[in-house]
Amino acid sequence: MPALVASDLDRTLIYSAAALQLPGPDAPAGEAPPAPRLLCVELYEGKPLSYLTETAARLLRELAGTAVFVPTTTRTRAQYRRILLPGPAPRYAVCANGGHLLVDGESDPGWHRQVRELLAARCAPLAEVREHLLRTAGPEWVRAHRVAEDLFVYLVVDRERVPETWVKDLGVWAEERGWTVSLQGRKVYAVPQPLTKSAAVREVARRTGAGPVLGAGDSLLDADLLLAADRAWRPGHGELAGTGWTAPGVTALPERGVLAGERIVREFLWAARAHR
Ligand SMILES: [Mg+2]
Repeated sequence: MPALVASDLDRTLIYSAAALQLPGPDAPAGEAPPAPRLLCVELYEGKPLSYLTETAARLLRELAGTAVFVPTTTRTRAQYRRILLPGPAPRYAVCANGGHLLVDGESDPGWHRQVRELLAARCAPLAEVREHLLRTAGPEWVRAHRVAEDLFVYLVVDRERVPETWVKDLGVWAEERGWTVSLQGRKVYAVPQPLTKSAAVREVARRTGAGPVLGAGDSLLDADLLLAADRAWRPGHGELAGTGWTAPGVTALPERGVLAGERIVREFLWAARAHR
């Protein structure tokens, strides 16, 4: 029974130039390891946007032949489709933080309907959260405001200028309404609590009958996935590392940036092989 590998993408497997965290020219002479060669896996408006190391790319191809690999992302379907990961196109993918379960590239309508019903029953409507964000966020540090897949909202912000108290207050306000707030890089997400990656991954496990679930992720929106997995890894950077978050079965890796991504694929491969 092959393992099921459910991995977050951004800042877990793939990295923008700003998130690579490679030793720069200011590293002491002779101390900086040679920079790894990178493979670009996403273009946006004709420009390279996301990368992994060539070694990670090779390991990921091997992983596809060893485990059921399920990209598990908060990205919308359109944002996910921009990514061309090495190896065969995954049969299953989780988009919109669990709101869409792609099967051979198409959203499963039954799954999506079920998610909508759950959110309608348990959470404040998206319009209310959106309106609150628009009203309370400072126009001087908000760059853009987006509704994703009509399921959740996020702001693109000038991170340094976002008042910490605003994030905290928003978290409390959201919690009372069945929503969660997550701060990732330049984005502030507000997501309905039952909209989870773990629920969608559980559904994939049910459909495929795949064995142990291996997970990885860097942000608060990945915590439920890491907790639900039999084994999981988180990088040394990101929202979870920032708060020192950990849990039984979750390995906190020391690596940061794109090298953490490579380490995670290697860990997946070793663990998946051990279960064959
Ligand atoms: Mg991430």
